[in-house]
Amino acid sequence: MSLSASATLESPQRAPAQQQAPAPRADTPTAPNTIWYDGELIESGRPQASVHTHALHYGSGVFEGIRAYATKRGAAVFRLPEHLERMRKGAELLGMTFDVAEATGAVLATLRANRQGDAYIRPLAWYGDGSFGLDVAGHPQHLMVATSSTNVHLGGNRTRVSVSSWRRNPASALPPLKLCGAYVNSILAKREVKARGFDEAMFADDDGFVVECTGANLFIVRNGRVTAVEHRDALPGITRDTLIRLIGAESRPVSMEELRDADEVFACGTAAEVTSIHEIDGREYDPDSPVAREIAAVYARTVRGESAWSSGWLTEV
Ligand code: PMP
Repeated sequence: MSLSASATLESPQRAPAQQQAPAPRADTPTAPNTIWYDGELIESGRPQASVHTHALHYGSGVFEGIRAYATKRGAAVFRLPEHLERMRKGAELLGMTFDVAEATGAVLATLRANRQGDAYIRPLAWYGDGSFGLDVAGHPQHLMVATSSTNVHLGGNRTRVSVSSWRRNPASALPPLKLCGAYVNSILAKREVKARGFDEAMFADDDGFVVECTGANLFIVRNGRVTAVEHRDALPGITRDTLIRLIGAESRPVSMEELRDADEVFACGTAAEVTSIHEIDGREYDPDSPVAREIAAVYARTVRGESAWSSGWLTEV
């Protein structure tokens, strides 16, 4: 398998075996791209992973989705330590050694090599070649960092969402971290609702509470009050945390009824940034979404180094 930097959380894809490579999609980087792979900067097309790669069979890996932005002071990575700390937790759970300082250096080196300002950054740590058993012992660990100039959005500013019939991985079975295998759950939900003509899926739980989207957290706005959806099975998103701090939003469980009664609903995540939701299963929300728009603008200023909060959250490349 050739590891490619083009697959994104929102659009997982691979070239089918024995077929001609598909024409590059609009979001596929075509420029020569350097990746960091086990300590070396190499061309992204070069690394080959064995078909015995443990992570390929069992999802025994952990990844991050991070963004760098072009700021007046040059390119800077938004909340890099927080992303790598979350990755470290996932790696630790899988029994991997994960050196945050090494990963930080790898991210910065890759961005410098690709001379990128705005970039999506994908670090991945995984178990490699070995026997077929589930035991990870004896499998080598790998770390890579790929970057892309792709802007990954949920579906533009008229995102149509549907509630999946699948439940989110319960935290009691799979902790809400960015473990590779856990994302099969997101893939199933996304496939289901896309087949019904929607852009994105959201999860609800058995008790009628909102969980999150497949790769983003949810907020509601009602009578001008902004609420971050809280759920134990949802990833504690770094963008969610950023917005709570920036605008002083409350965080609490939100029922599906409340979601339907909201004036505005928006999703947030590193890739999605702040994306207002136009429709959830036929319930349409204010297409102007004035509060979400204002919050998106505050977030944009912050990630680009133009707010009082920015300096503490940006790592210059
Ligand atoms: N939930 C899930 C399932 C995600 O994959 C992501 C993207 N990392 C998020 C929420 C948003 O998290 P963050 O703001 O840290 O990117």
